[in-house]
Amino acid sequence: MKLLTDGTINNPLLGFCLAVISRHAEKWPPTEQVLADEFVDWFGAQSLMTPTAMRELCWMKGIDLSFIALPPELHGFNCSFHDKKEIIISEHEMVPFTHVHTLFHELREMLEHAFVELGHATVTPKQSLEVKAEEFAMAARMETLTRELPAYIEMVGNIEKNWHRYFGYAFLIVFSVVYMFSCVFLPQFEDMISEARRQRYVRT
Ligand SMILES: [Zn+2]
Repeated sequence: MKLLTDGTINNPLLGFCLAVISRHAEKWPPTEQVLADEFVDWFGAQSLMTPTAMRELCWMKGIDLSFIALPPELHGFNCSFHDKKEIIISEHEMVPFTHVHTLFHELREMLEHAFVELGHATVTPKQSLEVKAEEFAMAARMETLTRELPAYIEMVGNIEKNWHRYFGYAFLIVFSVVYMFSCVFLPQFEDMISEARRQRYVRT
């Protein structure tokens, strides 16, 4: 136990996984929604994050994040070696919000490696970590907006001019719908675009 406690100082991710295990050990494995909920709190994730903001949040958790040119079929990948953790994301954002989705996906895979290390895998050999990571990324993105929405609503509510306020509410509704839609359908959009590109390539 001493080793584990010491290990978490240089490894915030492992510390987070230990805390999640201690909170949910009785009902293990937790659902992706429960994990996403815990993760958004711990990571300080937000619905709209610039690459710089994402890099800073990762850095605070001991993870190096970089954006580089990757082959079109690869959105990102992660690697861990001892306490060094790294996530690489394709600098080209095919669909808006892809960077955040990919970041959450890669982090979910890292979390699973830590859970396995701690003897508490959440994915059975018959299940796919890829699928779970997609589900998690979707849930985590929805969770960020759910948390931010009350503050946005209050902000718009404080607008004095009536028509400005109505416009604010309308914008908020449209944004929330588009955002939630993108959470659910982003992987399909990406597949559609890569498929279209592949076909174009095959034809020429
Ligand atoms: Zn993956």
